[in-house]
Amino acid sequence: MSVEIDVAVIGAGVIGLATAREIAQEKKDVFVFEKNRTFGLETSSRNSEVIHAGIYYPEDSLKAKLCVEGKNLLYRLCDKHNIAYKNSGKIIVAADENEINWLKELYEQGRKNGVDDLALLSRMELKKLEPNIEAKAGLLSPSSGIFDSHSLLKLLYSQAKEKGAEFVFNTEVIGVEKAGTKYEIQIKDRDGISAFVSHVVVNCAGLNSDRIAQLAGIDIAKSAYKLHYCKGEYFSLDSKYKNLVSRLIYPAPEQAGHGIHWRQALDGRVLLGPSAHYVEEIDYRVDETQKQAFYDSVKKYLPLVELEDLEPESTGIRPKLQGPGEDFRDFVITDEEGSGFPGLINLIGIESPGLTASLAIARYVGSMVKNFFT
Ligand SMILES: Cc1cc2nc3c(=O)[nH]c(=O)nc-3n(C[C@H](O)[C@H](O)[C@H](O)COP(=O)(O)OP(=O)(O)OC[C@H]3O[C@@H](n4cnc5c(N)ncnc54)[C@H](O)[C@@H]3O)c2cc1C
Repeated sequence: MSVEIDVAVIGAGVIGLATAREIAQEKKDVFVFEKNRTFGLETSSRNSEVIHAGIYYPEDSLKAKLCVEGKNLLYRLCDKHNIAYKNSGKIIVAADENEINWLKELYEQGRKNGVDDLALLSRMELKKLEPNIEAKAGLLSPSSGIFDSHSLLKLLYSQAKEKGAEFVFNTEVIGVEKAGTKYEIQIKDRDGISAFVSHVVVNCAGLNSDRIAQLAGIDIAKSAYKLHYCKGEYFSLDSKYKNLVSRLIYPAPEQAGHGIHWRQALDGRVLLGPSAHYVEEIDYRVDETQKQAFYDSVKKYLPLVELEDLEPESTGIRPKLQGPGEDFRDFVITDEEGSGFPGLINLIGIESPGLTASLAIARYVGSMVKNFFT
């Protein structure tokens, strides 16, 4: 006989952790299955740790709404639990007239999304704020910042556990099968294969979330859930560049990413990136041949940078719904009732701003789960 539970969460990245914490407080039996030895070893610890304002995304998209809501929740949680952060602000810079027009569009988009503190900066205004940055104009976002995402992961994990969520590490979900009104979750661990039965399944499997949806019986081609991996490299800069710039600096966004940005991490390291290029495999090695491209990109807005001061740092891989050259895709966060799978909640394509939005995403999923049980 399989053990019966209320909610099975697949994946203990920031989204699985925040969701488990949210649902466990509703006094539900929540089990989190994670294939790695502990939480947060994949995309949730391979990112820029930027608290995004919510500027770039189309109005009314989940990305826009959950980013703006999540940002506020995140700053409050950081304050309450002494998680280190720096509300440094961010400037998106324009290198030419085309990009200035782009900044104006971003300004309007941000305002529509509820980001009402944005300011367009002339070259002189930008120079006053950041004397070492070279650009024709800028867009200042005061509510952007950086934070210690590892402390967030730890806090969410310990709070979820306190509220009663059970974490099952080193355990891979290898099957999800509809069994009447419930789901049988097949798991593989050191002892072999076994099963749980759950009323609700929340798929927070990050880079694997399309495959989990497919395992459960969703036609991922028809639903357009197939993920594309988009790798981002980071390079670090010599410590002599420390304190040269005090805000996050972003160039105009690229098609697949936000552009190679400048960030001074909370520990003082100066980091550049991430780049954005589609890959077939999950391989976290840094492609050092990208050094010149990083240099060329950063040199445009920070002419002081020297090529030999760049060192390969780390990488992350975005779980993107949008393939190369394709248009914007929103987060998929949906109860698959319409496809005949009530209580199967898929979260697919949770790329940036997923970290910023994590607490708001958890609330959103929490209300779906609550509806399911009422
Ligand atoms: C380069 C880069 C930069 C980014 N920068 C930012 C940023 O600055 N700000 C921001 O807001 N967002 C940023 N993001 C996005 C953010 O990091 C993600 O949205 C977020 O971490 C996604 O969390 P997750 O829990 O969905 O995924 P993950 O952290 O990948 O967690 C998924 C978990 O599921 C587990 N899993 C998968 N399959 C199975 C299975 N079959 N059985 C059991 N467990 C399984 C995995 O082991 C993993 O632990 C960035 C992303 C990238 C790649």
